Amino acid sequence: MSPPPPIRRYRDFVRNRTLGERLRTLARDGAVAALSFAPSSAAPGQWVRFPFYHHVFDDERRGLARHLDTMAGLGDFISIDDALALLSSGDPIGGRYFCVTFDDGFKNNATNALPILAERGVPAAFFLAAGYIGTDPGRDRDQLLGFFEDGETLVEFMDWDDCRALAEAGMTIGSHTMNHARLIDLDADKVAVELQTSKEVIEENLGRPCLHFCCPWGRPGRDFLPDRDPGIAAAQGYRSFLTTVRGAMGPGSDPMGVRRDHLLANWSPRQLRYFFARGSAQ
Ligand SMILES: [Zn+2]
Repeated sequence: MSPPPPIRRYRDFVRNRTLGERLRTLARDGAVAALSFAPSSAAPGQWVRFPFYHHVFDDERRGLARHLDTMAGLGDFISIDDALALLSSGDPIGGRYFCVTFDDGFKNNATNALPILAERGVPAAFFLAAGYIGTDPGRDRDQLLGFFEDGETLVEFMDWDDCRALAEAGMTIGSHTMNHARLIDLDADKVAVELQTSKEVIEENLGRPCLHFCCPWGRPGRDFLPDRDPGIAAAQGYRSFLTTVRGAMGPGSDPMGVRRDHLLANWSPRQLRYFFARGSAQ
């Protein structure tokens, strides 16, 4: 059976989402759009924020470029190593910083996101579901279709040459497990295997240390155990554990519980400014 054609446009990706997923996205976008028209009470806060994306499909390139240009008007870009050093230094943050991150390892991160980031000199971090890197839409059809819950969406992943190109362009490569695992469903030994194996595979293929871990789905108590999993990551030599809890990071924020803001590249600059205007270190 031949695979469905890989999805390259956001409009096709959305068509495949389940009704529940689409309603959740609509509700969230509606709330964000409404709130973004409210007068801004932006405190001139000092923070580090970690925006995150998954895909940058062909019809999202312009949106990502606009996002980065909007962020450039609000603060400075910082690599994840520099961001964590700044947060742990105990010093005042002294500005507003964005550490841009991408989850999963889709092919469009290399083909679409990288040129836009490189053109602007933005250092981003990419978190790989390492067992999907180098998969082939024909050969690995079932594995790829299993990535999304509808079972019908096929999005290509990067290969190791793509990942090396990201690293050589100054991007950071981290782990997002081997199998895009929901850690809370696994016992501690299996969590350790997901974290350890992905770290080894990434280090072997890139020839550089893999020091950052980003938790799939990332909600404490729903997707991972906050009292167990960041500790397992730390014991294996990871220096960070990224979640999907929204909010800004400030002095002394825990690197083993990094808060991030999920973004879709087609959100307007106005929506984006709304988000970041609310940011104050928590
Ligand atoms: Zn993910």
